[in-house]
Amino acid sequence: METKTQTRDVTTGQREMVAVRRNRRYKLCQILTIIGVLFLCTLGSLSLLDNARLLGAMLLSNATLGILNLYLLKRSGNVERAAIILSFILCSLSLGLLITGGNSNTGMLWIYPIMAINLFINRFWPAVVNFTVFTLASILFLFTPLSELLMTSYTIVEGVRFVLTILALNVICLAALHSEEQSYQTIIQLHDDDIRQMAYYDTLTGLPNRWNFKANLQRMLARAEKDKQRVGLLYIDLDNFKQVNDQFGHEAGDRLLLEFSERLWEVIRPSDQLFKTNKDSLARLAGDEFVVLLPNIKKPLDAGIVASRILKIFDNGFSVDNVTHNIYASIGIAVYPDDASEPSMLIKHADGAMYDAKASGRNCVKFFTQDIANAQRQRQRIEKGLRMALAKNQFSLVFMPIFDCENNTVVAIEALLRCQSAELEGIGPDLFIPVAEATGLIKEIDLWVTDNALKALVQLQTECGFTGKMCINVSGVELNNERFPLQVEQLLSAHNVDPETVELEVTETAFVAGDTVCLRTLNALNQLGVSIALDDFGTGYTAFSQLIHYPADCLKIDRSFVNDLFSEKEPRNKMVMIIQNLANLYGLRVIAEGVETKAQLDHLKTLGCDWAQGYYLSKPLSWDDLISRFCG
Ligand code: C2E
Ligand code: CA
Ligand code: CA
Repeated sequence: METKTQTRDVTTGQREMVAVRRNRRYKLCQILTIIGVLFLCTLGSLSLLDNARLLGAMLLSNATLGILNLYLLKRSGNVERAAIILSFILCSLSLGLLITGGNSNTGMLWIYPIMAINLFINRFWPAVVNFTVFTLASILFLFTPLSELLMTSYTIVEGVRFVLTILALNVICLAALHSEEQSYQTIIQLHDDDIRQMAYYDTLTGLPNRWNFKANLQRMLARAEKDKQRVGLLYIDLDNFKQVNDQFGHEAGDRLLLEFSERLWEVIRPSDQLFKTNKDSLARLAGDEFVVLLPNIKKPLDAGIVASRILKIFDNGFSVDNVTHNIYASIGIAVYPDDASEPSMLIKHADGAMYDAKASGRNCVKFFTQDIANAQRQRQRIEKGLRMALAKNQFSLVFMPIFDCENNTVVAIEALLRCQSAELEGIGPDLFIPVAEATGLIKEIDLWVTDNALKALVQLQTECGFTGKMCINVSGVELNNERFPLQVEQLLSAHNVDPETVELEVTETAFVAGDTVCLRTLNALNQLGVSIALDDFGTGYTAFSQLIHYPADCLKIDRSFVNDLFSEKEPRNKMVMIIQNLANLYGLRVIAEGVETKAQLDHLKTLGCDWAQGYYLSKPLSWDDLISRFCG
């Protein structure tokens, strides 16, 4: 793979250079021929006037050949052929001048510039041949019985001076040609280096890229196997980097990545002589993902030490251009040969450990374990199942009624997703939704759910006279998807649904304080006229004072707090009351979920909770059960 790319790159470089050279020689041939033709015509005519008929005829016939050559060159663009013909003309002209002696025996003087031109229109080796042929021919004419053929006579001194001068001139010309040739080679080399750099190194940070890294890893593991050494692989993924891009623009994001790559190098530089790292031990795999290779570590924990040093980079925030960003890193560690012996498995396991670090609240380091491998395998299985379910339309919805606490009537219905794919047997949305979010499949799923929940709502309204709301769960991922509000709007109008009968539930953890994109999307959704509920409220980190900034209509108390209503644990059993008070303060509706007992429901009523749902009131119902219950 590697060598293939390399040969392809080299030929690209050479091809470009050949084109540049051909263009240059084309122009040179053209200009020299025009000048030569003008020159020959003038001198030829003068010679004829001077009664030197043979010389005049020779010069003019050469001029005619030159014009013919120019015409051929223009028509075919064939520089090589034009150069050969021109070379032939110049060579025969030079010999003609030597034989005839030119005007008043000055022909020899003309030969020097003509020969120089002759060499320069050629490449190096053809020029050598040309020069050798001409020198040998002139020696034969000057110093052998062939001199009988000359129409003029030269003294020995003149002959020797001519040959020596032509030798010196040619050596100079050939040397110049040779150095030109070499500079072309250098340019090709540099050009190929550039292409190589682009193919194997990340253009932003200059670090090895994914392909290069894989090759380095392979080499390093082969050496480690031979020397019986351990190699640590750190998989680093920045947390919150997307927000920097969204809030400060891509240029700021790029500068941050560059700065991070430099500080990363500082941190892993072999200052303590523990690891012999060099820049090939680092790589940027994609976006905000980096890897570090630690050759020859004594024990896996050594890799943990370096990982902790990397996390320290983010202590007190990460400043670039006087702006401090709240970004961190999640780091996964896998060690050769303990965790994997294959390069691709080692990367995969370090990636799995990184995923685990992200899931454990970010800004931390995780070592690869067998549990992580199992979870990773399960995620892959789920992903496969989701893709299949999307392709074969194997999704369905169940519906959970939501009751008004005051009069026990159904005021809303929450649509919950189910998947029938064989791969996902026994796996509920709490497990497959996070995988869908991580793989980007969620966007398609959310649209499917919205579309089908609206379809169900219309049917409930027209067939059963249902007047309540349809509550639809949408992933927090959509808050970063600026197209989502428009897609919802299109679905609302396609089903001709009154937006006031729709509530979108977004988990509270999806909210990031100060995230402008997130807020913009929420406002756009709110503008559509649908209401917005903050799902699983209380589990996220929303500073309660931030609530005023969100266009939320409803807080959905997480079912773990309802579950803890009568527990001994002090702050937890008060959470429902605290959230209820908060909702009163901001004029928000409250839904308690996970009500499983009458005691819980009664207590919620006394606290002033508006709506409630849970197994005590009704389990999620299939479409048929829902219809027979509400329309029957
Ligand atoms: P959620 O939005 O908090 O949904 C409530 C979950 O709690 C549902 O589980 C429901 O069956 C369960 N539940 C309700 N009442 C009780 C109760 O009294 N006791 C117990 N033990 N559980 C109760 P489900 O359907 O497995 O959904 C789990 C999570 O998956 C949902 O939590 C939601 O975050 C996500 N999800 C479900 N459907 C969708 C969907 O269509 N789109 C998206 N994006 N996420 C969905
Ligand atoms: Ca929900
Ligand atoms: Ca919930």
